[in-house]
Amino acid sequence: MYSDSTLTINPSKAVQTSPLLTVNLQDAFFKALDQDEVLGGDVEVNLAISSQGASFYEVKLQIKGDVTVVCDRCLDPVNVSVACEDVVKVKDDDADETQGTDLLYTEVDGSIDLGWTVYEVIITALPPRRIHLEGQCNPDTAKYIAGEA
Ligand SMILES: [Zn+2]
Repeated sequence: MYSDSTLTINPSKAVQTSPLLTVNLQDAFFKALDQDEVLGGDVEVNLAISSQGASFYEVKLQIKGDVTVVCDRCLDPVNVSVACEDVVKVKDDDADETQGTDLLYTEVDGSIDLGWTVYEVIITALPPRRIHLEGQCNPDTAKYIAGEA
């Protein structure tokens, strides 16, 4: 079966065979996404998939690692640590708008790609201001941006 990313899971099969899953995300994962906020990274994602009644599943996400983003001060790449948790609810069914937006739906074959969801969880966990440690900024650009050049 073709999968878009290593975060494509099949909840109904996973709960019976491999409910605990660890996926390592590298630069290629972030580059493949339609985004330009995260330049790269090295992130470990632990997934715990559990059944929550008929065709409902809960996926607990534990995310830990480093991502590379653009420094707010000097615009050079900067590594930011990320450590966060979230819970995703998945329904094994056709999408139903009336159920609310916090619910994800599987594809026809019962699988779901959590790549974008994990990306959003990572983005939300990043600090609002992403800058190098004091003195570690690119001196030329930092001066330029501060208007001191
Ligand atoms: Zn910087």
